[in-house]
Amino acid sequence: MKLFDLTGRVALVTGGNGGIGLGMAEGLAAAGAAVMISGRNRAKNEAALARLKELTPHADAVEADVTREADCHAMIERTVARFGSLTVLANNAGTNIRKRPEELSLAEWRTIIETNLTSAFMASQAAYPAMRHAGFGKIINTGSMMSIFATGFHAAYAASKGGIVQFTKALATGWARENIQVNAVLPGWIDTELTRAARRDLAGLHERVLARTPAGRWGEPGDFAGIAVFLASAASDFVTGTAIPVDGGYASLG
Ligand code: NDP
Repeated sequence: MKLFDLTGRVALVTGGNGGIGLGMAEGLAAAGAAVMISGRNRAKNEAALARLKELTPHADAVEADVTREADCHAMIERTVARFGSLTVLANNAGTNIRKRPEELSLAEWRTIIETNLTSAFMASQAAYPAMRHAGFGKIINTGSMMSIFATGFHAAYAASKGGIVQFTKALATGWARENIQVNAVLPGWIDTELTRAARRDLAGLHERVLARTPAGRWGEPGDFAGIAVFLASAASDFVTGTAIPVDGGYASLG
């Protein structure tokens, strides 16, 4: 359907070499977008790129650490140089350190805030001139259930993901007149590298997630293909500043 057709759109997905980011990247590629993925790990970049190349010839990967401002600018410049523009940015790279607040070091706090929140600011700011030049833009920020809830083991992570929702609203408000829509997706419990370690280390987590999730299953990276296409497409042109749970009903269960 034309409303969801991404032909001619150019997307950059940070943390696109695996997990939720790759799920988004595959959705965007299947809908017709040219897709650049970024990540620090070259081997993961190459493996993910091989998967994307099965969907489109218009795919590439760039090594970038999103905690570095220079890398944020370089990955945008590389995307524009490779595909001629940049109209969709998914700020998805993220990390977590599971510790009680009194045990979390300042360095660990900074790593989480810089990877999950400051990176979205730096990449969005770097992308702004290209979006203005194109006359429109779509920014998709990855939040979390920790944007809404919290636990005693996620002080920095919850702060970063709560921050992502407010940052999304601020950017949406600031750039609405430039025809740039900014939205967040809030994943529930998704089977990725990030949660695999937690599942291994925390006895009973797997079952608790199944019991707490109304859909009765863990999410898969592929569950993020559709929301990414919607938020990158003309179908969402009057949707901005929202935070949409993709969680099998997790956030709705009282
Ligand atoms: P993954 O570990 O599979 O993906 C994380 C991605 O972020 C990787 O591609 C990684 O690439 C990249 N990344 C991490 N740090 C940096 C950095 N400094 N610079 C550049 N890239 C970086 O986990 P998920 O797919 O689960 O996580 C994706 C997003 O979804 C994160 O923001 C996470 O917080 C969020 N999320 C995940 C949930 C889940 O249940 N899985 C639930 C809620 C939110 P590389 O290592 O190559 O740098």
